[in-house]
Amino acid sequence: MDIESLNFLKKLLAQCGPSGFENAARRVWVQRTQKYADEVRTDVHGNAIAVLNPGADVRIMLAGHLDEIGFIVTHISDNGYLHVAAVGGIDRVTLPGSQVKVLAEKGTIDGVIGKKAIHLASPEERRKAVEIKDVWIDIGARNRKDAEKHVKVGDYASYTPNFMMLKNDLFSSKSCDNKTGAFVASEVMKRLRRRKLSVSVYAVATAQEEIGIRGARTSAYGIDPQVGIALDVGFASDTPGIDKRIVGDVALGKGPILCSGPNINPVLGKRLVEVARKKKVPHQFTTDPGVTGTDAAALQVTREGVATALVSIPNRYMHTQVETCSLKDLDNTARLVAETILTITPRTNFIPR
Ligand SMILES: [Zn+2]
Repeated sequence: MDIESLNFLKKLLAQCGPSGFENAARRVWVQRTQKYADEVRTDVHGNAIAVLNPGADVRIMLAGHLDEIGFIVTHISDNGYLHVAAVGGIDRVTLPGSQVKVLAEKGTIDGVIGKKAIHLASPEERRKAVEIKDVWIDIGARNRKDAEKHVKVGDYASYTPNFMMLKNDLFSSKSCDNKTGAFVASEVMKRLRRRKLSVSVYAVATAQEEIGIRGARTSAYGIDPQVGIALDVGFASDTPGIDKRIVGDVALGKGPILCSGPNINPVLGKRLVEVARKKKVPHQFTTDPGVTGTDAAALQVTREGVATALVSIPNRYMHTQVETCSLKDLDNTARLVAETILTITPRTNFIPR
């Protein structure tokens, strides 16, 4: 990965952007992606849309959701603690001991999610995972009045950025799900910038995926693509306790995961595999027997239907603060998607036959 791309990745992962409040991450994504696009626009739902070669008959949409799981402040107690609800699928086992940023109007405020000391917990309390209603964010306020000088009910919060390189090109950060997918969408534009295209390419950093795959729905309706590729993280099965009979054999560093199943157009799915083989891009396989829990679900049923695929970045520890991916996989995912787009022409027929 070149230094410009790596710096962009780090900067994107350093932003906080829970579903519905993707603003900071979106600004960073737009600022970078506009260098490699002919046009960039944002919409009322919070999506950012970059276009290369606008005006062609065939429109290909890439959807990498920009939002992450987080919190919203529901109540400020008399003691000045912030009580919260989960935005998206928070893993409550990982909550106590977390550092968070409250995204207040005047700027971000540091806080911690505390917990009763283990010494003081009853045997029963020690055994069970905390409920979200029983956790609180401590920003150091003296009382409610003091807290309200900085924070109000309705402010969002998210885990504190914590990017860290591990060995062998692996890295760990909160919100790899799915800033890595939004990153790859931008990278595809960078790779295609100087290539001859017979299609229009729309890279979309979608909003609000984590609360029900919403930004892909609105942006795809507007773009009206014939082809859609969702870029998201996918489960790696190279850690203890994961059942390969369900997830398949997926390891970090072994390339993008190509999904098959009813949510995937068979012609596009096959094309991705052919291009991966021809261009020698390492790749892995998974299946989903129903509707995937990704932007591919919305893409496929847009208007009269879109030829849809899901290309996933292998990820360990999804929805924790230490989600882990491989830089090599990000590069290979962008390369595979870019090379596949270059094979699509107005004559490519995606109707299953
Ligand atoms: Zn995701």
